[in-house]
Amino acid sequence: MTPTIGVLSLQGDVREHLTALEHAGARPMTVRRTHELDACDALVIPGGESTTMIKLAGIFDLLDPLRAAVAAGLPVLGTCAGMVLLADRVLDGVEGQQTIGGLDITVRRNAFGRQVESFETELEMVGVQGPLHAVFIRAPWVEEVGPDVEVLARVEGGSAAGRIVAVRQGSLMATSFHPEVGGDSRVHALFVDVVRSAPGPRNPTTH
Ligand code: GLN
Repeated sequence: MTPTIGVLSLQGDVREHLTALEHAGARPMTVRRTHELDACDALVIPGGESTTMIKLAGIFDLLDPLRAAVAAGLPVLGTCAGMVLLADRVLDGVEGQQTIGGLDITVRRNAFGRQVESFETELEMVGVQGPLHAVFIRAPWVEEVGPDVEVLARVEGGSAAGRIVAVRQGSLMATSFHPEVGGDSRVHALFVDVVRSAPGPRNPTTH
């Protein structure tokens, strides 16, 4: 079964996610409108700028539909700014920064940025065979996770060693880094597996 996976296309690095999803065996589509969201079995929220993206989601009347879709069990992968948008709690956000929410985590925005703007490193990630080359760009890290959240990856060396940078809670997944950069689609393939095994009316195998 080939799931249809949307990429929220309000802002950010959309094209790379479309390509990675295709390589991972999904049928990708862009999502800017509610009817497009309704057509998806799952959604990717790309990196970009979380404050801009949440503003645009409001302007495009997508904020409530996105929250409702997450509450209804839509599988979502959030990367970088997308992780911030999935988080229930945000530190170092702008005044009153809103999110879509759904993931019981506290993220710190631009967390690595105080030390370095961007960096690349090798990681081990649960569900991915072998080392993963991870690209971080003004990335958040996960400061706290709720009891139902599984930690999938942590930074391994340097001053940020041990910081949580990938998580999963049911059908919601998030990474601090950019798995769509560099032509490696293993994180997207892991998400496609999550989508295929997701319970509920959104499960593509029940369509
Ligand atoms: N710092 C950005 C934010 O908080 C995220 C950066 C990114 O997605 N590359 O939205």
